[in-house]
Amino acid sequence: MTGLSGLRAVVTGGASGIGLATARSLAAQGAAVAVLDLDPGGVSEPLVGLRADVSDDASVRAAVEQAVERLGGLDILVNNAGIGAVGSIEDNPDEQWHRVMDVNVLGIVRATRAALPHLRRSVHAAVVNTCSIGATAGLPQRALYCASKGAVLSLTLAMAADHVREGIRVNCVNPGTADTPWVSRLLDAAEDPEAERAALNARQPLGRLVTADEVAAAIVYLASPAAASVTGTALAVDGGMQGL
Ligand code: NAD
Repeated sequence: MTGLSGLRAVVTGGASGIGLATARSLAAQGAAVAVLDLDPGGVSEPLVGLRADVSDDASVRAAVEQAVERLGGLDILVNNAGIGAVGSIEDNPDEQWHRVMDVNVLGIVRATRAALPHLRRSVHAAVVNTCSIGATAGLPQRALYCASKGAVLSLTLAMAADHVREGIRVNCVNPGTADTPWVSRLLDAAEDPEAERAALNARQPLGRLVTADEVAAAIVYLASPAAASVTGTALAVDGGMQGL
């Protein structure tokens, strides 16, 4: 028996980075886990991989229903799927604003709406959203991304208030810069990726990036019965970036 035995979890954006680390960690602790992703091809057992686009309501609804059928119910929803955008407000056209808000913010709304009827039947219902330190820090050249994560933070608090009486807890994690394929893609685009990575590490209070497993550990805690009295919280996993 491990801590999450008998619990059933869905992780959006669970085929890479923080989501994959979270799905694996939930499974390692005994949960049955389905990953919903645009590209679930690389997801292997015991995880159940399902194709879904969180920017498409019908796609998310269908995938959540499929996951519930495969897992036998739903206790934990991790809303992790997200995309980035680089630039100031002068650099991102309206269409890009609509696209990022659609995935990062409305993606959470759609997946949670689809999950709520099932979560109401659970005695350990928890939603955890992957937010960002960008929700409360003015990161340069990330206006759109920060605005989307600011909305995720507000949404987390409002959803926590709306569903606390139903026994559904809602929290979020605020990662700092985490070493995931997303960040590797950004570094690879630099002129000298190695030098860029060294400079990025040097900017972190810990002298290194946060790992995907470290963020996953925080998500798993918030999703677990150990956090039964924790709701409406943002847990920073940022290597001291905001506090120091
Ligand atoms: P990643 O690119 O490695 O993984 C993101 C996953 O989400 C991918 O598997 C992708 O296919 C999936 N995805 C993207 N759009 C989707 C959609 N419309 N529908 C379904 N799935 C979709 O990224 P990551 O670094 O692991 O980031 C995961 C989350 O963590 C994001 O919400 C991101 O904003 C947040 N975050 C990341 C960092 C970081 O430094 N890596 C820091 C703070 C917050």
